[in-house]
Amino acid sequence: MQTTTKEKKSPPTNSSGFEDLSLSPPTLEALAKAGYLEPTPIQAGLVPRALAGVDVLGQARTGTGKTAAFVIPILEKVRPSKKGQSPQALVLVPTRELAVQVREEFVKLAHGRRIHSVAVYGGKPIRGQIDKLSRGAEVVIGTPGRVLDHLSRGTLKFDGLEIVVLDEADRMLDIGFRPDIEKILRRCPRSRQTLLLSATVPPPVERLARSYMRDPESLNFSPKDISVHTIEQFYCTVDGDRKFDLLEHLIKREEPKQAIVFCRTKRGTDRIGRRLTKRFKDVACIHGDLPQSGRDRVMAAFRAGKVRVLVATDVVGRGIDVSGISHIFNYDIPQFCDDYVHRVGRTGRMGREGVAYTFVTPEEGNELTRIEVRINKLLTRDEVPGFEAVSSSPPASQPAGTEGDAGAAPEAEPKKKPMYGRNGRPPKRFRRAL
Ligand code: ADP
Ligand code: MG
Repeated sequence: MQTTTKEKKSPPTNSSGFEDLSLSPPTLEALAKAGYLEPTPIQAGLVPRALAGVDVLGQARTGTGKTAAFVIPILEKVRPSKKGQSPQALVLVPTRELAVQVREEFVKLAHGRRIHSVAVYGGKPIRGQIDKLSRGAEVVIGTPGRVLDHLSRGTLKFDGLEIVVLDEADRMLDIGFRPDIEKILRRCPRSRQTLLLSATVPPPVERLARSYMRDPESLNFSPKDISVHTIEQFYCTVDGDRKFDLLEHLIKREEPKQAIVFCRTKRGTDRIGRRLTKRFKDVACIHGDLPQSGRDRVMAAFRAGKVRVLVATDVVGRGIDVSGISHIFNYDIPQFCDDYVHRVGRTGRMGREGVAYTFVTPEEGNELTRIEVRINKLLTRDEVPGFEAVSSSPPASQPAGTEGDAGAAPEAEPKKKPMYGRNGRPPKRFRRAL
C-alpha cells in the first residue's frame, strides 16, 4: 500500500490503481483528491463485484478501507433524484458517530456531483432530519432505530431502494440491533442488492447473511491472525486500585500523540475522565449517555487534534477513525474478545504505527487468555516497575516498597520487557501465572 499524498490537484493519471476498476472520471478524480492512490485489497475485491450487482459479504479487519469499498459502487450507481423520491441506497451503521463518519466519506467521494446523502440517527431532533429527507436524498445513512422511526412516520420510503449496506454488521448484532435490522430488511424491495461489511463473521452474522442476502459471495481479507500487525500490543498486570496510577504513569512515559482510554462502563468513563482532567490537558470523555450535541463536539475536537486523550466506552469508540491515534489503553479489559480487535484497530490505521496497552488485574487472567486465543497471538508483558500486581511475584531486581509513589516514577526506565522465552514464544499454550 502506498501512503497517501495529500491534495493532489491534477486529474488522475493512468498510474492510479483505481483505473483498473473501470470507474467513472468524476469518481477517479474524487479519489485522487482524497489522496486514495491505490485501492486497498477489500476495495479491489468488493468494488467490481458490487458494480456487477452481486450480493457480497466482505470481511476485513478494521482500518482497511471498508467504507470506501461500498461508497464507491454506490456513487457509481445512483442517479440524481427528485424531491420526494425514495433514496436509492441505504447504509445501516451501529452508532451515531459512524453515521456521521460514513456520510463524510460519501461527501468526500461524491465531490463535484449532485449526490445528496443524509445521516439519520437518534439523539438529534428528528425535525431537521425530516426536512433534509424531504428535500430528496439519494443516499441515507442511519442507525437502525432512527431509520425505523422515519419509516413508520412515512418520512423515509424504501420503494426506490436498490442497494442496502450493513456496515459493521458484527457490532450491530452485538448491541442488539438484530430485530430492528430484520424489520428494516423485510421492508426493503426484494430486488435490492445487499452488501454486508464486518471485521469478524461470527455465526449470527452468517445467519443474517443467509436469511437476507441473495446467494452472497464471501470475500475474506482477514488473515487467520486477526490482530493488527502494525500495532505493538502489551499487557500490564496491575491491581484494580492501582490502574489509574499506572495509566497516569504510562501517559507521562509515552507522551501519546493522541490516545483513547477504553473503559467498560459509562460511569467508569466519567470517573476516569474527571481524574485525568485534573492531571493532563486536553482530556475529554464520550459515551452513550452524553447528549448528541456534546458527543459531536467531542468527536470534532478529537478529529481536529484538540483533544489528546479521549476516554470512551466500546459502543462509542468503535469505528472511530482518527489518524493521529498513537495509543490505545484498555483501562478495563474488554468484555468481548471482538471488542479487543475493534479497540486496538483504532490505532495503526492504514499501516501507521500504534501501541496498545491492556490492563489486566490478577482476577482477569482468563479474559486475557481468551483474547490471545481469539487473535492467535500472545500479548507482550510490560511490567512497569512499581505497579506489579501484588499477587504476582515481582521481578527479583525490583525492590518492594517503591509502589504507591506513582507520580514520581523515573522517566527513563526500562521499556517493554517481554516475559516470554527469549524467542518471544509462549512457554505452554497460552498458559501463564499471573
Ligand atoms: P474500515 O471501515 O475498514 O475500518 P475505513 O473505511 O474507516 O476502514 O478506512 C480507514 C482509513 O483509511 C480512513 O482514514 C480512510 O480515509 C483511509 N482509506 C480508505 N481507503 C483508502 C485508500 N484506497 N488509500 C488511502 N487511504 C484510504
Ligand atoms: Mg468501517
